[in-house]
Amino acid sequence: MKKICILGATGSIGANCLDVVASQPSEFEVRYLTTYQNVALLLQQAEQFRPQAVAVVHRAKVEQYLPQFRSMGIEVLTGFEGLLEISAREDVDILVNALVGAIGLLPTLNAIQNGCRIALANKETLVLGGQLVMAHAAQSGAEIVPIDSEHSALLQCMVGEQASEVERIILTASGGPFREKPQDQFSGITVAEALNHPNWDMGQKITIDSATLMNKGLEVIEAHWLFDLPLSRIDVVIHPQSVIHSLVEFTDGSMKAQLGLPDMRVPIQYALTYPRRLPATRPRLNFDTLRELTFEPADLDKFRCLQLCYEALEEGGAAPAVLNASNEEAVSLFLKEKIRFDQIPVIVEDALINCETNSFHGVDELIEYDRQAREYVTSKYDF
Ligand code: NDP
Ligand code: MG
Repeated sequence: MKKICILGATGSIGANCLDVVASQPSEFEVRYLTTYQNVALLLQQAEQFRPQAVAVVHRAKVEQYLPQFRSMGIEVLTGFEGLLEISAREDVDILVNALVGAIGLLPTLNAIQNGCRIALANKETLVLGGQLVMAHAAQSGAEIVPIDSEHSALLQCMVGEQASEVERIILTASGGPFREKPQDQFSGITVAEALNHPNWDMGQKITIDSATLMNKGLEVIEAHWLFDLPLSRIDVVIHPQSVIHSLVEFTDGSMKAQLGLPDMRVPIQYALTYPRRLPATRPRLNFDTLRELTFEPADLDKFRCLQLCYEALEEGGAAPAVLNASNEEAVSLFLKEKIRFDQIPVIVEDALINCETNSFHGVDELIEYDRQAREYVTSKYDF
């Protein structure tokens, strides 16, 4: 039985992960679960999976539920310190990082120190601190196995291959809900329209990132660190059906692709069982009903966030951290209807131009760059 800790258990990935765990009861044992504030759902999950301890970051939300956790003998930790403490516990084989945002970096680094497997959904961890994370993982021997569907696809295509024989990787992108919308209508896009993703049901932040194509840019940076490839060997293609999850081209001109229905439980399960596969009875891709697979290039003028990710990765240093932090703040302002949809790339670009993006020498400096970029955006745009 593999002992599992799920950070962000109450989110979209967290809940799908528990679904996978429930479907493989002889394989996994849930040790720890965390939430930001959804304690009612966390309690239900705790009743079903009986973890040893849980962490609730938003302290005020937990008080009324304490007796129920205590009656099950479950330890309750609180605050960001509680999350950090749980992520550092040593009796874990796999830590699933399903947190959203840069907040995921320190818990990832904690778990890496224990040398356990990190099943990583939290791509912001690698966007912000890819260099640090990969260096620490190499030192401790911790494996970083991606949950993100594109990166899982790439990993699956690379199994049995030599890294030196990979010529390039191609990340597919659905194009989001505004692929066909003229750019001059972007200023009128509502929050509800942006949250309506054509193929995937996900948390709010990544859904907005998918609508701006920031998500694909963050994934390019994520792939750069995971597979140790330069930007010149990472391409993006728009593929609206989300059936091909990504492709690898090899030096002999051969290509491998990984296909499947858009269902995150598949890459989640693979990250938990890699390099093995376990049988699962989920809906299958059906070629009798699948009519077409189409492809088109990404429009970098219309979806400027993708271009900004390329530029931030090329600039290096703290530029990806500033990009990520300013995007998190811009998305949060858009969700609160304080800025327009088309202002998101404008704000990120403004932060990249005006915030310090020098190289950094450790996690404290990196977090300071992140903080400064957030302060820059909120002081200028949050009214
Ligand atoms: P959700 O918003 O659905 O869930 C996020 C989880 O993190 C929730 O448990 C939430 O708690 C918790 N959380 C949020 N803020 C904090 C905080 N400040 N401190 C501690 N915990 C916090 O996100 P998703 O599941 O959609 O995404 C998680 C990660 O996975 C993201 O990095 C995303 O990019 C990546 N990903 C997601 C995919 C998807 O299909 N959803 C696909 C590929 C990647 P609470 O419930 O209380 O808010
Ligand atoms: Mg993805």
